[in-house]
Amino acid sequence: MNSADARVAADRTPGDSLPLKQPWRLLGQVAISILVDTLLLALFARAGTISYKVAALYALIAGACVVVFYVLLRSEWAARQPDPALTRAQLLTSSAVELGFALYAPPLAFYFFNILFLIFAFGALRLRLQQMLTSFIIVTLAGVLVRMQLGDRLSVPNATPAEQLLVWLGHAATLLRCCVAGWYGNNLRHALLRKNRELAAASARIGYLAMHDSLTGTLLRKPVWNLIEQQACPPVFSIVMLDIDHFKSINDQHGHIAGDEVLRQFAQTVNAQIRPGDAFGRYGGEEFLLLLPGAEPKAALATADRIRRAIIDADWQRIAPGLRVTVSAGVASAAPREPVRQLVDRADRALYAAKRGGRDCALLMRDDGRLEASDGSVVAELA
Ligand code: GH3
Ligand code: MG
Ligand code: MG
Repeated sequence: MNSADARVAADRTPGDSLPLKQPWRLLGQVAISILVDTLLLALFARAGTISYKVAALYALIAGACVVVFYVLLRSEWAARQPDPALTRAQLLTSSAVELGFALYAPPLAFYFFNILFLIFAFGALRLRLQQMLTSFIIVTLAGVLVRMQLGDRLSVPNATPAEQLLVWLGHAATLLRCCVAGWYGNNLRHALLRKNRELAAASARIGYLAMHDSLTGTLLRKPVWNLIEQQACPPVFSIVMLDIDHFKSINDQHGHIAGDEVLRQFAQTVNAQIRPGDAFGRYGGEEFLLLLPGAEPKAALATADRIRRAIIDADWQRIAPGLRVTVSAGVASAAPREPVRQLVDRADRALYAAKRGGRDCALLMRDDGRLEASDGSVVAELA
């Protein structure tokens, strides 16, 4: 496999039936089209309209063009071109062949002119407007020259029933290939729609991964921090810093896999305790940060304590027999225009006090710097 092949293979999606990235595959259809034309020319030769030499020469020249383009399209050189399908070169070469044969075999010039429609129908699927217009002008001018050369020799064979039938066969063959061009364009459109859907799904997934912790499914530290920053105070809002107690011992006693499972179940248990508008994120390791928009200090402390109790009550035995998990929480409510860093620092200090006080505890740091427990008692101030 050369590097152009490798690039194409990498670009293809399994099950992709459309030759979007393999321009030479279209040449197979061109070769079939040339066979149809050669057959018709041979039938016209048999009907006496032209000589067999025209059919043979047509097969030879058009076939040689297919071979040359096949080799070119598979080359490194083509892969480096702005249009690796070399659409305009193919369009102009095919048009030149058809116009040349219109001159060479005037009784069938009408048929060769017809094929120009087909060539442009396929070319229009890939060319940009400007390329299309310049190709149109070149071929039209060349067509005028050919038409002038033909003079009164341009006619539609009509002398015998065989010729009349063949003329209609020629029209039918052209019409059928127009249908194929339409079908091909439709396939292109569907493939693009499918790619767009895949891209939208992939970018949604990337967006999700950039915001969420892969282990617990909670938000990451930065998105929660941003959400806190976006809160306007007033109205009031509170944050809760949560830290699993003695988590290192859980890892040591039951292993890291069990530790990971504890983190997952911890996140699920907290998520079950909060409202849809709240934001819950992993601050780092076994520390989590909870944003409670609209929560007054006492309501935030009550939520933190409810979470603390839910953690004790959760079924941890499922993860490891004898496993017990508790959490400590530090709560702080935002003062007007308080920087996030300062607010988080207050919650952190409340958490630190809860740890020092024996863990399995939620404490609120009030505006006056005093620490309040969930039963309303004021705890000793921080040193
Ligand atoms: P404290 O009660 O004071 O909070 O003690 P602690 O043991 O919970 O806290 P410490 O900071 O001493 O230890 C936290 C441990 O959490 C250490 C680290 O290996 C572990 N940890 C951090 N992230 C993960 C993780 O994603 N999975 C697992 N299994 N362990 C983790
Ligand atoms: Mg801890
Ligand atoms: Mg910690």
